Amino acid sequence: RIVYVDGQYVNEADAKISVFDRGFLFADAVYEVTAVLNSKLVEFAGHLERLQRSCRELSLTMPVAPAQLKTIHEELIKKNNLVEGGIYLQISRGNAGDRDFAFPGAEVKPTLVLFTQSRPVIDSPKVKTGIKVVTMPDIRWHRRDIKTVGLLAPCLAKEYAHANDADDAFLVENGFITEGSSSNAYIVLADNTIVTRPLSNDILHGITRKALLVLAARDGIKVEERLFTPDEAYHAKEAFISSATTFVWPVVSIDGKPVGDGKPGPISLRLRDIYVELAKAEVA
Ligand code: PLP
Repeated sequence: RIVYVDGQYVNEADAKISVFDRGFLFADAVYEVTAVLNSKLVEFAGHLERLQRSCRELSLTMPVAPAQLKTIHEELIKKNNLVEGGIYLQISRGNAGDRDFAFPGAEVKPTLVLFTQSRPVIDSPKVKTGIKVVTMPDIRWHRRDIKTVGLLAPCLAKEYAHANDADDAFLVENGFITEGSSSNAYIVLADNTIVTRPLSNDILHGITRKALLVLAARDGIKVEERLFTPDEAYHAKEAFISSATTFVWPVVSIDGKPVGDGKPGPISLRLRDIYVELAKAEVA
């Protein structure tokens, strides 16, 4: 794979980052993952806008202009002949030459890294099988609206899920589900209303979530943005998750209890279909 590191396109084996990089030492870095279909970016404008917000919230200076970021993405797609998958981008506060908690001066330039990941997005096997989730406490920090690389809690969540015969976790705080370990979480009520947690610092403001809520409304599907409990999720007709590279994946069991009839639900699959249509139109 060819990866991008600070202005250079290099073979992944030749890419180098300092041991003093603040992304490595402190997780002092933000990231984005943008889906790629038909060798083109999906919803790049939304991801760029969120990246700029993440940087602002952490007083992190974007190392290149937004238009150039898009060019780097497109160049990397070309260099890797990427047709379908995702592009990971990370901006860290750079290499201050030592380990010191305080921010370095403006002379220290942020580190910009991008790499591609090739994988099926449209024909993911999870669409047919759905995924199993388990609930567990949300032990993340309180600024989940900032997309930082401090991802140890989600790694632990994935491990916990796998150890408990599940694919992923629904995180719970003060008795309510916040989101998935790397996705937004939804349930569908008996009357086909979709329920998902409202935007706040408690969850990441998903780019896919935003699009899905618009598409649902346009399709005549009712949406309630409110808190919901694991118990409400156990008794829901359907449940699903969304993220940039999964789009929509149905959830077929929660804590070992089948959701609805234990199969991917029609509202989840309908939403996935209309999101796929939207994404395909964008990359046509
Ligand atoms: N919530 C969390 C914690 C995430 O890590 C992600 C993305 O990976 C999402 C939600 C979904 O956001 P998006 O749809 O922008 O990928």
